[in-house]
Amino acid sequence: MRAVVIHAARDLRVDQLASPEVGSGDVLVRLAVGGICGSDLHYYLHGGFGAVRIQEPMILGHEVAGTVMSVSPNVTRVKVGDRVAINPSVPCGHCRYCLEGKRQQCSDMRFYGSAMRFPHVQGAFRDEIAVAEAQTFPIAADTPFEEAVFAEPFSVALHAVGGAGSLVGKRILVTGAGTIGCLVVLAVRHAGASEIVVTDISDSALATARKVGADGTVNVASHPEGIRLFATNKGYFDAAFECSGNGRVVATLPEVVRACGAVTLIGLGGETSLPLSLLVTKEINLRGSFRFDAEFGWATDLLARRVIDVRPLMSGAYPLERAVEAFDHAADRSRSMKVQLLFDR
Ligand code: ZN
Repeated sequence: MRAVVIHAARDLRVDQLASPEVGSGDVLVRLAVGGICGSDLHYYLHGGFGAVRIQEPMILGHEVAGTVMSVSPNVTRVKVGDRVAINPSVPCGHCRYCLEGKRQQCSDMRFYGSAMRFPHVQGAFRDEIAVAEAQTFPIAADTPFEEAVFAEPFSVALHAVGGAGSLVGKRILVTGAGTIGCLVVLAVRHAGASEIVVTDISDSALATARKVGADGTVNVASHPEGIRLFATNKGYFDAAFECSGNGRVVATLPEVVRACGAVTLIGLGGETSLPLSLLVTKEINLRGSFRFDAEFGWATDLLARRVIDVRPLMSGAYPLERAVEAFDHAADRSRSMKVQLLFDR
């Protein structure tokens, strides 16, 4: 089978590898579509992020969907021919966090296409993959794979939004209008927000944010004063979702979020300094949000019924053999949101 393998920064190849073996409880899936994520791009452009570095060739990819080709005898939830979205999280199931129902914090997590541990956890951009039955989430016959494959990033958005309490009638700020920021806009709207403002430094990204439901947008590069207007009267927004990973953006949030409001950090970044006195005196609830757990099933369902319409986020699709071209497209923020790889179906 073919697989998209990162060997080093800027050294991405379509390699021939042995087909997977199907173990007890496993489901063999022939992949149809894969979505290129920001972390895949970090491996491609920089060979990793932060202290996480590629130390051996690794198959990229963790946003995938496909068709069930075979199942081991004890599998009951899916059958041959079913179309499924695949949850790329493989938590251990028995650490303290798994037992507490916080599997996204599993202390022995195996997440597809991640070099956070060694040997690396191989990813899912390959013709065939054997997954545990619990990782498969069936979709309807008429749900396009191109939409179902958003289940993973939309789960990230649902996890962040679900952890922020009721958003009914609330004014929401979303900073960063990449794929996750736009998916947060969709999740926040679904959660009943009354007004959603989105910031970014790219006009094209902000245009996409408006297509998925943002009421207002601010380009903080060309109009930095646009966000300051929201700082009057102790801050305008009830809650903010930070998706840019930019420390300077994070530092402005305590000014524009109202007293006793909530700031959820989703974007990953380096170190930053924060206005502690504002955070303390305004009693701002600052929290992080990472990955997802049960949200994967909810996300699959909402996408399959098109309650959540992700079509405005699709900016291109390439056959697997043109993976390098696809990654270069995905890396160009001026003309891409979500770029996908198409396998032979
Ligand atoms: Zn665990």
